[in-house]
Amino acid sequence: MGISTEILVIGGGATGLGVARDAALRGFKTLLVEKGDFAHGTSGRYHGLLHSGARYVVRDPRSARECYQENVILRRILPSAVEDTGGFFAALAEDPSEYVGPFVAGCREAGIPAEEISPSLALKEESLLNPKLARVFRVPDAACDSFDATHALAESIRAAGGEAWVRHKLVGLRLSSGRVTGAELENVLTGERLTVSADMVINCSGAWAGKVAALAGCEVLVTPGKGTMIAMNSRLVNTVVNRLKPPSDGDILVPVGTVAVMGTTEIVVQNPDQYTIEDDEIEVLLTEGEKLIPRFREFRVLRAWAGVRPLFKDKPSSRSTPSEASGLPLGEGDSTDSRLMSRSHSILDHATRDGVEGFISVVGGKFTTFRLMAEEALDMACRKLSTERKCRTAEIPIDLPGKKFYTPGKRLNEIESSGNAEVICECELVTRAQVEQALRRSGSLILNDLRRDLRLGMGPCQAGFCAYRAAGLLHTLFLTAESAEKGEISALSANSAAKNLDVRATNSALLDFLQERWKGLRPVMWGANLRQLELDLNIYRDLMGADRLPTLREPEEYPTEKTA
Ligand SMILES: Cc1cc2nc3c(=O)[nH]c(=O)nc-3n(C[C@H](O)[C@H](O)[C@H](O)COP(=O)(O)OP(=O)(O)OC[C@H]3O[C@@H](n4cnc5c(N)ncnc54)[C@H](O)[C@@H]3O)c2cc1C
Repeated sequence: MGISTEILVIGGGATGLGVARDAALRGFKTLLVEKGDFAHGTSGRYHGLLHSGARYVVRDPRSARECYQENVILRRILPSAVEDTGGFFAALAEDPSEYVGPFVAGCREAGIPAEEISPSLALKEESLLNPKLARVFRVPDAACDSFDATHALAESIRAAGGEAWVRHKLVGLRLSSGRVTGAELENVLTGERLTVSADMVINCSGAWAGKVAALAGCEVLVTPGKGTMIAMNSRLVNTVVNRLKPPSDGDILVPVGTVAVMGTTEIVVQNPDQYTIEDDEIEVLLTEGEKLIPRFREFRVLRAWAGVRPLFKDKPSSRSTPSEASGLPLGEGDSTDSRLMSRSHSILDHATRDGVEGFISVVGGKFTTFRLMAEEALDMACRKLSTERKCRTAEIPIDLPGKKFYTPGKRLNEIESSGNAEVICECELVTRAQVEQALRRSGSLILNDLRRDLRLGMGPCQAGFCAYRAAGLLHTLFLTAESAEKGEISALSANSAAKNLDVRATNSALLDFLQERWKGLRPVMWGANLRQLELDLNIYRDLMGADRLPTLREPEEYPTEKTA
């Protein structure tokens, strides 16, 4: 099967979705392909901070300026995903007082509002903070929900006439006379192969960008910088709290929805698909948390997870375009310490850099700067395709209709006033109607997709009670002969359902989902979490015999996941 497009975007994280949205809004025929689900990579595993830029003012002023510019724009165009929490940069007695001067000067130079407030006012607003605060500055940090943001972006691409496909992996690039002319894709659910011809292929595959570029014979050196975070069971703070010192491990606490996320660590890994969470990373996060919030350890840790930063360092000999070369003041590009590598981005024109036309890579950057990266990438694509089309992404809002920033109080109110109170996930207040709608809409047989769609299973019981209920709904909707006859099955699931009209598919979906949830509990298994896991195991293993259920896989294939 073969199709054609003008712009083909590889990767459905914030960067790829931002690029595809920009392309579609400029009127290009656009197709985005993602091998997993949207936000399945680093974008769904980040810290949740919409940076004001203040974190980077001393070391990386270009990143600082870019973050502030984009922070202002995203608050305006993406209000359903951004919560205006505000941010503190708080110095403790042990933090280096000589950092304050360059911090204040850096904020001034980057145009980032940073107002000093008294420690007593900060403590009045955030009563759990360490009372021994030395100095506090207020900055315009915010929290951004990655799932809401990426879903909104995908909708916006479709609304602009583009297409965005999940579970389609790029497996090859077609080259002719030194030009990328298209790609080979594989539907990872069905194994079906298809060919796409494209005028321009834009590689937005984050930490995997080197692997994708290699398919065209280009070398792109992306250093995967793993960062681990822990989610605390309650919000603890309503303001983003950063330590006022050079960036280091465990120095930011972000309130995201009902939880507070402490992070991060930073360790270079060899493979973005293979990494583990180490005990000493959790220990560092707890120790640093204790400094910001006394008795931090006594609060419940909900789960741990990690993501991989796509840190980019170009080859000294390569020819990046001038505006994209990092040009950083502190020699970060020479460093082997990933904390000292630039957080800024590069747009690589593989024609000037590697002699391969029709191919651009977008590497590095932050979640906060995805829109700017997209704008620069499409400006380059337009120049190369000899067409003038204006970027409109900073003006057009990206909201999901009817979707508002998530708070449990608001959700409970909506459920109670709708009269439809059949709740599937009590922790996150997800209703049966929402689950059925999301399943029908996506056609996905993967319960973890519901987590990204609705936050199902993300609360304190970590899917203890909602997983079997959601699996039941999945089975009734998609995996029975009756549902097939009723035509409930979407194109995506039709193939799987046709093959597996029995309970094995449902059992597999259930066990996959539970494994995914429990692997985040394992690194933080003490106290209330250990009791929770015991309860979950009692329900699934002892009552339901889940480890003996017939599945599509051999039993020894569970558990296999090494990553978290
Ligand atoms: C621990 C941590 C904390 C962070 N915190 C923050 C923060 O608070 N604020 C902030 O602004 N930034 C933060 N970042 C940085 C930010 O998360 C990343 O820069 C950003 O999410 C990268 O987005 P991306 O789209 O480039 O990559 P990704 O989100 O990883 O997307 C790339 C996608 O490409 C897909 N892909 C790969 N290969 C193929 C293929 N062959 N075919 C099809 N698809 C493919 C992958 O499945 C993936 O979904 C953090 C990063 C980490 C690691």
